[in-house]
Amino acid sequence: MTCEEARDQLLDAQRARLAPETRAALQTHLQTCAACAHEDAAEALLSEALENRLPQHAAPVALKRRLAAEWPGGLKELDTLDSDEIERRVQACEAGEDAPWMAWMARYHELMRAALALRRGEPATVDAAFVRAVQRPAHGRLNVAVFAQLGREFDVEPRTVWDTLFPRRGKVQRHYR
Ligand SMILES: [Zn+2]
Repeated sequence: MTCEEARDQLLDAQRARLAPETRAALQTHLQTCAACAHEDAAEALLSEALENRLPQHAAPVALKRRLAAEWPGGLKELDTLDSDEIERRVQACEAGEDAPWMAWMARYHELMRAALALRRGEPATVDAAFVRAVQRPAHGRLNVAVFAQLGREFDVEPRTVWDTLFPRRGKVQRHYR
């Protein structure tokens, strides 16, 4: 199974909709591919938030789930940026700098929040194209829909926004679409 195929199956796997042999192939892939395993964990966390399950487990997990529900993009920020980079960004904001990424990040958070509201069946003030994209995100990944929307709104390549907000670490491959 390729990464692309694995990503396509993640959401269905979490909803227990996969045939046994597909599920086995996916499990094998996740055991050997850190990038897809990470994506799987992130999607699982979001699914938890979406289903509004009450946190029953250890405090950090409960906290992460609440954070994911209320501030979905923030979880990704904490998860993918090191503390030096977060500190650098905080200082740039406090110093009153005006960089494109600031507007991108603010809008990223708004769109993630809107996307999760839509998936819960709640209304959100976003355009129809984004609503459709969220209902059927490419490979079941909300991020793909969100960064595509950011690209449209700011007239920038989605991958430029994505790589700027969440710089890639190491050689991990990123599926932009
Ligand atoms: Zn993979």
